[in-house]
Amino acid sequence: MVGEKLRGLIQLLSKFPGLGPRSARRIALYLLSHRSKVLKPLMAYLDDVNLRYKYCSVCHYLDEEDPCGLCRSKTRDSTTLCIVACIGDVWALERASFFKGYYHILGGLISLSHGKNPEDLNIETLKNRLSIGISEVVVALDSTLDGQSTLHYLIQDVFPLYPHIKVSSLARGLPMGGELESLDQATLMSAFWGRREVNSALFSNTTSWSDFEKGK
Ligand SMILES: [Zn+2]
Repeated sequence: MVGEKLRGLIQLLSKFPGLGPRSARRIALYLLSHRSKVLKPLMAYLDDVNLRYKYCSVCHYLDEEDPCGLCRSKTRDSTTLCIVACIGDVWALERASFFKGYYHILGGLISLSHGKNPEDLNIETLKNRLSIGISEVVVALDSTLDGQSTLHYLIQDVFPLYPHIKVSSLARGLPMGGELESLDQATLMSAFWGRREVNSALFSNTTSWSDFEKGK
């Protein structure tokens, strides 16, 4: 018989990415069995992290400062912007440490199955950045249906507004269904260096997101 509060804790934990009810039950029991060494320090840490970290108003990275450390860097190439879906993708690229431009984090991917639309992503701040000083954009999105839908939307509805910007996307060598975060550094680097220029002509016979929305 699991008490109501404990059941609530297990339900909360089971919402974590990669955790199911079984793992959630084990973690809940572990936390309650190690209160002084794990549970209490964790509570204090979570509180501290929650208070300290905020989203960067420029690129949407998480940092203690706004703008974040990446955006404040003076040594990066200010003409190149890499568009990624999430903060974990920035970590993957920074671990491989070959990209020296700035980042823009969309905050997710367009997803019909999850009801995620372009207006749910950080597109307006992207447009603001593209209008000043950027000459090259690298789109580094997952090789999934949602990643490709998002790339398609950017090519159809966003990049044509900035025809002077050279746009490329990661090479097709990525495994289908591949998420950036889970790629090894060599694969990520070869996909990055093998990136191909993309333009709206590639998708001239397909429907733009706004037309698709209108036709729904
Ligand atoms: Zn930033």
